[in-house]
Amino acid sequence: MSLVLHGIPVGKGYAIGKVHLLSSGLDDVPHYTIDEDNIESEIARYENAIKQTKKQLEELRKNIPDDAPTELGAFISFHLMMLSDVTLSHAPLEIIKEQKINAEWALRQQLVKLSSQFDSISDDYLRTRKQDLNQVVEKIYKSLRGVEISNIQPNDLFEDIILVATDISPADAVLFKENRVSAFITDVGGPTSHTAILGKTLDIPSVFGLRNARSLIKEDEWIIVDGVSGVVILDPDNVVLGEYEKKTQQYKKEQRKLNKIKNVSATTLDEIDIEILANIEEISDLTLANKNGANGVGLFRSEFLFLNRDEMPSEEEQFEYYSKLVKKAAGKPVTIRTADIGADKNPRWFRQLDVINPAMGLTGIRLSLAEPIMFRTQMRAILRAAQFGKVKMMWPMIASITELKQCINHLNTAKEQLDDAGVEFESDIEVGIMVEIPSAALAMNTLIKHVDFISIGTNDLIQYTMAVDRGDDSVNYLYQPTHPVILKLISHSIKTANRHNKPVSVCGEMAADSNLTRMLLGMGLKSFSINASSILAVKNAIVNTNVQETEKYVNSLLRNENPDRADALLYKINSYDKFEQDA
Ligand code: PEP
Ligand code: MG
Repeated sequence: MSLVLHGIPVGKGYAIGKVHLLSSGLDDVPHYTIDEDNIESEIARYENAIKQTKKQLEELRKNIPDDAPTELGAFISFHLMMLSDVTLSHAPLEIIKEQKINAEWALRQQLVKLSSQFDSISDDYLRTRKQDLNQVVEKIYKSLRGVEISNIQPNDLFEDIILVATDISPADAVLFKENRVSAFITDVGGPTSHTAILGKTLDIPSVFGLRNARSLIKEDEWIIVDGVSGVVILDPDNVVLGEYEKKTQQYKKEQRKLNKIKNVSATTLDEIDIEILANIEEISDLTLANKNGANGVGLFRSEFLFLNRDEMPSEEEQFEYYSKLVKKAAGKPVTIRTADIGADKNPRWFRQLDVINPAMGLTGIRLSLAEPIMFRTQMRAILRAAQFGKVKMMWPMIASITELKQCINHLNTAKEQLDDAGVEFESDIEVGIMVEIPSAALAMNTLIKHVDFISIGTNDLIQYTMAVDRGDDSVNYLYQPTHPVILKLISHSIKTANRHNKPVSVCGEMAADSNLTRMLLGMGLKSFSINASSILAVKNAIVNTNVQETEKYVNSLLRNENPDRADALLYKINSYDKFEQDA
């Protein structure tokens, strides 16, 4: 009998295919053999992981708060003791040597052996210490793998399979770009989690937040993924299969229709030219962006250059990458956002461990300001690459004028450093900020005077305004883009920037939702920065909008204070002309 699971629709059309389950956690540790020549380095890798774990635990013990329970210190000491015991510090090395296998798998084998020894202990207290063993092993494992535990192996990925995972980290999702799959679905994650955003750039159907799909779905089972309604159907019967084949054909037909406006300019019915820029994570994203007629790059998420690696990229490496990007943009503007690292975009070398509330912590510009060498290195690379085209620099997560002024000071220092070293660069580049924290939107009158442009990041703006984790589907009901307070913050930011004649774009996912295009146009927005695969749908909405006529409907939405009425008012914005035509 078919089973229907409901989740959050992330993208794009429909897929019918065979399931491949992705592994997760310590149960699915990578397992591979090691060449004789590489045994020494594998051993060094394990020893290093032990050293790192020890350092973390010692650090933790040193910083125990005064009001912490007294046994906490004793627990950490116990964990340190376990870590130094030969059973963990030495035995896995022997397994690596004997079996010529990777360190993670050797650790797992040792865990299985020690677990069964614990199980056979008759003393209750000692037997329950097994939990400590698991915790210590998990810590070593994390040190081996880095904070982001990548679950995807390249041979997991094929054209015609549907990936089913508990969760997929943004670092893993970028791997899909080179290895096409037909759809992917996850148990956790909200519509604007970074992984979901990456999902949209892939132009394949995906559904997130299905809660228990991974445990309900079996390997090799055939399922339907409906990325439009956010539905996954297990064991579909012939009637349902027929229905979805029809829907797929219809979707393809609509896509073909949209393809026809690729070379049409994004001008409204009342002759207002609108800019459509692309959000990209890597240079290769420019290909689709250019194909769909993007006017440039409104958001290059540079932090993806910092992920999936063991150390920070050097100034030279960054310079080369940005130069290549700028040259490929061939004179079109490229807005490079400095690294927005932290929370779920957490590089291995950064090792942000034991942070209670990462999205509120040392992330985005806060991290750059706390690591000025990293920040200035990146800005020097951007300034140097700016010689080859029209580059703009953008700072993420600005919360106050104090941070903005610090950024400007660091930028000036970076320029002085390049001057002193006699290195060529473009000094005259535009700088702007992301408006993604409510305090920035509310302080727009002040901030706008110090920048050349702003870009509204609605993904985080909603997260921080509603205090709702953008990646957590259990509170997704609060993640409402058309909530009156969100619209007020967006509209205030757009109006303030327009009044000061400073360019303003929206680069959050709201800009990519063609259902919201008219509304944003009616608020005075003239620049949209969106993933390449949404360009045509948004352009289609633009060329069918008369901004002047739309404004009065948008104003009544902006006056509305009732979140439950927002959808009805939005519907009016999108359909008033259809009613007029029908009348
Ligand atoms: C945003 O927050 O809206 C945004 C565009 O930035 P990111 O999604 O990378 O956090
Ligand atoms: Mg953001």
